[in-house]
Amino acid sequence: MIYRVEGIVIRSTDYGEGNKIVTLLTDSAGKVGIMARGAKKVRSRHTSLVQPFTYGEFVYFRNAGLGQLNAGEIMESNHRLREDIELSAYAAYAAELCDRAFQDEEAGAYLFHQLKACYDALREGKDAAIVIHLFEMKILEAAGYAPQLETCVGCGSDQGPYRLSPQSGGILCRRCISRDPAAMLLEEGTYKLLRLFSAIDLRRLGSIQVRPNTRQQLKTALRSLMDTHLDLRLKTRGFLDQLDRFSAPAAQAAERRRQHKESEPDQAIPDEKEVQDGE
Ligand SMILES: [Zn+2]
Repeated sequence: MIYRVEGIVIRSTDYGEGNKIVTLLTDSAGKVGIMARGAKKVRSRHTSLVQPFTYGEFVYFRNAGLGQLNAGEIMESNHRLREDIELSAYAAYAAELCDRAFQDEEAGAYLFHQLKACYDALREGKDAAIVIHLFEMKILEAAGYAPQLETCVGCGSDQGPYRLSPQSGGILCRRCISRDPAAMLLEEGTYKLLRLFSAIDLRRLGSIQVRPNTRQQLKTALRSLMDTHLDLRLKTRGFLDQLDRFSAPAAQAAERRRQHKESEPDQAIPDEKEVQDGE
């Protein structure tokens, strides 16, 4: 059977003499593996089509197992996401999330549109870490693990303060906190953003300003939610963390200057550990 789909290349591996096997996340056929014969060869018309992160139209033949690429057309090469080291780390992480968190048939059109919007946002220079956190929330939702963030998971109370309990699947009020002693204390601003991430589609993300403290808390919260429910052990996460460590000191120094300005001149400036903990 011949398929004609819109897809994004989320994995591309060499196979045999000059061939590539690519995994596509598609708008209408879920996640699908196709063989691109000769695509590794310099003069192949398919060489650029099968590069990671490429968005295009793909025509392939498939009965069972791997499809065979017949033709295709690039709609957005996303070459910036391959050339910029930081963007490529984020793009690879998003691709691996889609690849690992879902079986072939589980991946639907919604996920395709979220990944496409994620790459558009990265390419357009939106705040990469925030774009990725929003994408992580969409992955949690698509996998059926959207956290309950409006009312207490234990008793339904809408009276804060709350703590976030990934294990319980949402927030716990003061009375219910004994259910999970490891629940996280987060700033109100972090809850607001988590709720916003739950509510909006990635295609609707505008510009967003997030303080370093809140940024750190978002990262901790989403990572804990993902590790608790999905446990994917992603290869791309280590590199992303290295980049983060590289850029974190500058962000933390800016946060200390900001806090110093707002506080009494003789008050101690919190050290890095405390800033990271969100105190
Ligand atoms: Zn409660």
